[in-house]
Amino acid sequence: MKKIMVMFLLVFCIFSFLYPSQLEERIDSISRLEMQSVVEFLAHDLVEGRAPGTRGGNITEIYLKSVFKLLDLKPETNGKYLQPFKLKGFTINNLNVQIDDHKLKYLEDIVGTFTQGAESFSLEGDAVFIGFGIVADLWNWDDYKNTDVKDKIVISRINDPGMFLSDIFEGKTLTYFGRWTYHIEEVARRGAAGIIMIHTDESAGYGWKVVQNSWSGEEVFIESDLSSNLKFRAWVKESRLRQIFKDRDLDLDQLYKMSLKRTFKPVTLGFKVKIDGKNSFRELSNNNVIAVIPGKTSKRVVFSAHIDHFGVDENKQGDNIFNGAIDNGTAVASMVMVAKILKEFQNDLYYTVTFLACNSEEAGLLGSKFYVQNTDRGTIVANINFESTPVWEKSRSIMGIGARFSSFEDILKFLAQKEGIKYRQFSMSNQGFFYRSDQFSFARYDIPSVWISAGEDDESGERKYTQFWKTRYHTVEDEYDPRWKLEGMKQTIKFALLLIDHLNRNKMVPQWRDKLTFPMESVRYKH
Ligand SMILES: [Zn+2]
Repeated sequence: MKKIMVMFLLVFCIFSFLYPSQLEERIDSISRLEMQSVVEFLAHDLVEGRAPGTRGGNITEIYLKSVFKLLDLKPETNGKYLQPFKLKGFTINNLNVQIDDHKLKYLEDIVGTFTQGAESFSLEGDAVFIGFGIVADLWNWDDYKNTDVKDKIVISRINDPGMFLSDIFEGKTLTYFGRWTYHIEEVARRGAAGIIMIHTDESAGYGWKVVQNSWSGEEVFIESDLSSNLKFRAWVKESRLRQIFKDRDLDLDQLYKMSLKRTFKPVTLGFKVKIDGKNSFRELSNNNVIAVIPGKTSKRVVFSAHIDHFGVDENKQGDNIFNGAIDNGTAVASMVMVAKILKEFQNDLYYTVTFLACNSEEAGLLGSKFYVQNTDRGTIVANINFESTPVWEKSRSIMGIGARFSSFEDILKFLAQKEGIKYRQFSMSNQGFFYRSDQFSFARYDIPSVWISAGEDDESGERKYTQFWKTRYHTVEDEYDPRWKLEGMKQTIKFALLLIDHLNRNKMVPQWRDKLTFPMESVRYKH
């Protein structure tokens, strides 16, 4: 057995050392102009921040379709590059929430979204504290213990117990069970009428201002995601909730303490939550843009990068265009370069390769989710996603966000070693980055996926990428700069190509490892 392994490794190494030279030569020849062109256009003020369903958003879709045609890529289905999907947007105009007999101030104490097509609404339910509201077999954790929360208004902590106890869950590294999206999904499955999440700076990872900003505008959903009973989702400021509980002789800290134990059970609080307000809603449509290069098999690898960003904030003074140059212009540009080069090497392709320029990522990974839900998932062996690709100097490392969940990590380590650079984890991984871009839509449907990127440690010792996330991410400052060296981008493109080349040469199907820190939506046909 050992002998066979050694033989196999030997053949495998010779194979992968001999052949990529032509491909690597082509990668080395990538020019700055090639990389600049796409990001320069996408981040232009005239494209107006590429919000889905707006003029700038539509221009972006048409532009990608043209780029795919120029590269001579084929449409994936029915001869069409555009995959339309409908969204529903809801904006609260006025919100009154009364917990017990305390009236909360909209924006100051509470923000929320009502997700039904009604101009005015009212809702009432018994209040139940559900702790973290987590059910996770991996850690033998079940906050519900079969408690029926149907039609109730639940009050939930966010994050996961690992934030407070280092020996459970993944300690301070956020699991998907700690993301606010998970808390909402779980109570929706259980038929609650509403959820109020308790905000603290520590557990959310950001201040009340951020919640206020991101939850006071329009919230957008895929229609089928609204088929549950859950009509209302909101955040409350912890200090305000604490006062209300105090008046009822309820000790929030005591409840918190209980919620850190496996023995926790939901606590019926003995009062009601009453909600009413005014709502506006609309339908909007947008498109994913999809192209394909056929390989020798119909089994395929999907590359993805989202094309949308936040558009224009009309209420903002001065520069009000969210150009999203890095998020996600540079990533789309990277994917286009991968498409361009793979097309040149089409004869070497074992796998068919799909390029998914997906939409409405910023609204909750909606375009990639719609794509995965409506495609033949059984044919997809892996997803390689680009997100906010670094644009500065060369890095000493490469990273694969989420690679640790699958055999992608071994492959990337192997490739990094071969290229003489380090494979490193992202230093900000405690913020759950794997769950926050389109690779996660694939993972939830049982398709091993990875977000590929040059690492943070620039050769000069600077950490420009880390700085970007801390200062310019999701601000109007995320703008195109012609001085960018684009070496980090070239590295990212290079590793994406080496990765697909490796999968192709070895007809490899990436496999999950045992420990997955997120629940699957659905399990696919096994390869
Ligand atoms: Zn992004």
